[in-house]
Amino acid sequence: MAEIETDYLVVGAGASGMAFVDALVSESDADVVLVDRRHRPGGHWLDAYPFVRLHQPSAYYGVTSRRLGDDRIDTAGPNAGFYERASADEICDYYARVLDADLVGSGRVRFLAMSDYRGEDDDGHHVVSLLTGRETTIRVRRKLVDATYVASEIPSRHSPPFVVDPDVRLVPPHHLVDLGDVPSGFTVIGAGKTAMDTCNWLLETGVDPGSIQWIRPRDPWLFNRKFMQPLELVASYMQLQARFLEAAAQADDGGDFARRMAAEDVFVRIDPEVEPSVFRGATISAQEIEALRSIERVVRNGKILGISSAHITFPDGEIGADPRHLYVDCTAAGVRPTTPRPVFEPGRITIQYVTIGIVPWSGATIGATEASKEDDDAKNLLCPSFTFTGEVADILELSRAGIGGLIARTMDPEVASWNATCRLNPARSAPEHVDDPVVAEALASIGANLGAAMENLTRRVGGPRTPTPAGRIPSG
Ligand SMILES: Cc1cc2nc3c(=O)[nH]c(=O)nc-3n(C[C@H](O)[C@H](O)[C@H](O)COP(=O)(O)OP(=O)(O)OC[C@H]3O[C@@H](n4cnc5c(N)ncnc54)[C@H](O)[C@@H]3O)c2cc1C
Repeated sequence: MAEIETDYLVVGAGASGMAFVDALVSESDADVVLVDRRHRPGGHWLDAYPFVRLHQPSAYYGVTSRRLGDDRIDTAGPNAGFYERASADEICDYYARVLDADLVGSGRVRFLAMSDYRGEDDDGHHVVSLLTGRETTIRVRRKLVDATYVASEIPSRHSPPFVVDPDVRLVPPHHLVDLGDVPSGFTVIGAGKTAMDTCNWLLETGVDPGSIQWIRPRDPWLFNRKFMQPLELVASYMQLQARFLEAAAQADDGGDFARRMAAEDVFVRIDPEVEPSVFRGATISAQEIEALRSIERVVRNGKILGISSAHITFPDGEIGADPRHLYVDCTAAGVRPTTPRPVFEPGRITIQYVTIGIVPWSGATIGATEASKEDDDAKNLLCPSFTFTGEVADILELSRAGIGGLIARTMDPEVASWNATCRLNPARSAPEHVDDPVVAEALASIGANLGAAMENLTRRVGGPRTPTPAGRIPSG
């Protein structure tokens, strides 16, 4: 049995773990051991469906110290006029370079691939190689870092939550690029970003909208990608911030908040006749929404209980099924709800959302905060954690924690100065555009509404909650 010693043991080399380690190593002289069950860094992107792309610009995804992509504005296709969005292959290649060149290259990070974290006892933390079965004991001088807690649930590692007869062809989305027989049509199951990506890809690839049936139990509110643009287009993102704070200052509840954002075109929905009840922070363009609206066979009978060659069964009845249809299971949750925990505890860090959306920005913020001070209570005040439950009703709760953290970090000179230049911060180029009247209007509105937003949110949902202490990291 091998034994090693380190300052930080980080479990999980996905977007969360990589952004944390990069920020920590850049801002301190810490030594880190990073472990992952997978063979390389990248987390769920290593198993993603082949037509997936980031739903936000690459310009603020990844880690702080290395650019992802070329910060180019696309000139054609559904993303025309917006900053480029990386494919899964680009993201995985990027994380491999970050690991090899920047992290391991620093001489202060060791990566144990194909290694499952198994827990801690009096001897230390235990990691087992999934190839050899060999165990390594790791003695941790400072902290264990759980970078698995907000991990995504993805289609390729998910079982359908309904009964499927053996003669029904049900596939995850990544099988669509490798079909044997041509199906008579496609039934896409799910209401989230994966289902939208799948429908859009089928349409872009030439499938007639009339051949697609979409089983969409609930409709989501989505961020309009037009307002998620950084760098030279940062005025758009500052407008989003301003409209967000105005809504937070005035909204009675989550539904009211979403309708206020929709009135400003910042939130969009697929069907203007249906009031969405889901919010997971996903982003979409007007062009993609327009394409999705061409699919007219939308079934809203709730969640499927079972599929046979003759029927699709729902809680309140059934509809007929075409035995030659291909069913595409897009019901994996993607971003999962979690119980918020303290980010900083004695001997432990749990990486969670501390920024509204943008997992890597949260991971890096936690890394930079850890490097900046010693006291866990002080660090938790800078990084209140929250979750995306998926429910519109909970938007005010996540906004209170998200905006509260933003204000606290802005008032901390060290963390604020790090954040001002952090490439994962979509607003980082705003100071260079203060002469733009749109940016100036947004900054004035943000200043005018910040206090009122916190006051209204606290009145509606109460003050900060006491998070539940961390539990065990599940092993494989
Ligand atoms: C299709 C899709 C698109 C998305 N697009 C965006 C986007 O544009 N912007 C955005 O901010 N977010 C996006 N998200 C949200 C997404 O959750 C994050 O961006 C991010 O990739 C999640 O990273 P993670 O490190 O938290 O989790 P994961 O990528 O799941 O990584 C967790 C890692 O932990 C490892 N692990 C778990 N348990 C153990 C153990 N016991 N021992 C060892 N290793 C372990 C796993 O092998 C895995 O590699 C998207 C999600 C999906 C599914």
